[in-house]
Amino acid sequence: MRFKIKFASITAFAALVSAPLAHWQCSTLSKAGSAVGNFLLPAVTEDVKMGQQVSQELESKPAEYPILPEAGNEEAYAYIRGLTSKILNSGVVEHRKDFPWVVKIIKNDKTLNAFCTPGGFIYVYTGLVKYLDSEDQLAGVMAHEIAHADKRHSMRQMMKSYGVQVLVAIGSQAASKDPNAPNQAAMTIGQLATNLVGLKFSRDHETEADNSSVAYLCPTEYNAAGAAGFFEKIGNGGSPPEFMSTHPSPTNRVQNIHSQANIKKCTGTAKNLDKYQRIKALLSKN
Ligand SMILES: [Zn+2]
Repeated sequence: MRFKIKFASITAFAALVSAPLAHWQCSTLSKAGSAVGNFLLPAVTEDVKMGQQVSQELESKPAEYPILPEAGNEEAYAYIRGLTSKILNSGVVEHRKDFPWVVKIIKNDKTLNAFCTPGGFIYVYTGLVKYLDSEDQLAGVMAHEIAHADKRHSMRQMMKSYGVQVLVAIGSQAASKDPNAPNQAAMTIGQLATNLVGLKFSRDHETEADNSSVAYLCPTEYNAAGAAGFFEKIGNGGSPPEFMSTHPSPTNRVQNIHSQANIKKCTGTAKNLDKYQRIKALLSKN
């Protein structure tokens, strides 16, 4: 998955939003920014801002991203949020308290996907829940997606590709609320949101997210290698989902996930098969 954002208009727009840019360069970075390779990573508050904007954008497009209503689906939501809380409360998630960690279900049975924006806005498709066989498998995939946000992979990828323009995009959305300000920024956030769903991470980031998935699940009741179940299942047929990068290979990922669980001496075994089947049945009623 990778960003394919067109920043042509943003470059021209940069001069108009110099205030947030200057704030980021001088204030935010010196307080909390950190150097990553040849570029600077902004404060984690920027991840949250970006996640909020992207989630608003996604949820303003119900035809593309039909959010499953909370009303009538309370049990399914409580289940998936409960599962997510167990991961977040494992004591290993670095930004547990920095991000809001909002969970929404997208009603789309054909898409085997889940993703997490920068700043912890998590989306899981009904297609993924229905495809998997057990709670630890779903927990493994959720933990992998949580890791992409927690390790700030999305932000790193964007900063690497687009540099400070990313921060301009985030800042310009706030600026566009000014009725006198041009509205080009909204389009850019829209492109950003659309492309976030198809974001491709590097091989190193995928491996780190897999390893983190095991690390996050290890202190919980779950089989810590739950994410491997997904790759094992997909390896037995079917077309790969968008979020499953083709590199490293699924076989290597399965082996790596299992070996991580062994190295960490994880003891959880919970799969909660009956409960999982109940939630799948509930989602099938929609
Ligand atoms: Zn990933």
